[in-house]
Amino acid sequence: MADPAKSQSKSRGVGTVSRSTAATKRSTAPSPSRSRKPADGADLATRKAVIETALEMSRSRLSPGRSGNVSARWGDGMLITPSGMAYEHLKPADIVFVAADGTWSAKARKPSSEWRFHLSAYDARAEAGAVVHTHSLHATVIACAGLTIPAFHYMVAVAGGKDIPCIPYATFGTEELAALVADGLKKRNACLMANHGQIAVGPDLPAALALAQEVETIAAQYAKLLALGRDVVVLSSDEMSDVLERFKGYGQNAQN
Ligand SMILES: [Zn+2]
Repeated sequence: MADPAKSQSKSRGVGTVSRSTAATKRSTAPSPSRSRKPADGADLATRKAVIETALEMSRSRLSPGRSGNVSARWGDGMLITPSGMAYEHLKPADIVFVAADGTWSAKARKPSSEWRFHLSAYDARAEAGAVVHTHSLHATVIACAGLTIPAFHYMVAVAGGKDIPCIPYATFGTEELAALVADGLKKRNACLMANHGQIAVGPDLPAALALAQEVETIAAQYAKLLALGRDVVVLSSDEMSDVLERFKGYGQNAQN
């Protein structure tokens, strides 16, 4: 398959001195607040956490056919899974630092082809610390029908609103898709992506992964519900407001 992201990625990334490198060189200057790039080596734990999240995504069968990718905010950019590597072979050095301007070190691996929408997700959500994207089976089935998941179950509120919307389709790896993802994530913590999959953000990697798993469960329930061929009973806006209010206090485990 032609990869429109490939040529663009190369021209922006490989061979380019990233802004973060320049920032590191400046870090001896008396204004440490100017650089948000942490010290070399401090990223090891986060690189390991990205790998562990990717592995858990595989183990929980959330990423069929090696689909999906994971990132964590780091400095002025993010640490993201590389393109075209099986998760079980990942080493910390394989995780790619992509700066906020979309550049990465010439020595680094090539980041996932979906790096643009990971960056746009962090742009859209200043408080987000991690992004998980998958082609999980049921979320993808519902997304390929172009359906928004309505409030058929109160747990739909776990994505932060009264439904789980499906953002419009655009080619993977493009700025167009990155803009659509950013738009969707301004309103919800997770969205379906038409003819593609789903994306979830969270304050940290475990939270983003847990939300993606929850969205997959909800999508599976909704798909089975639709298969019954009966009318779907949707909770009222007032009922969902009540649930959202309770979730604010207790998080997604409010029912426990
Ligand atoms: Zn994808």
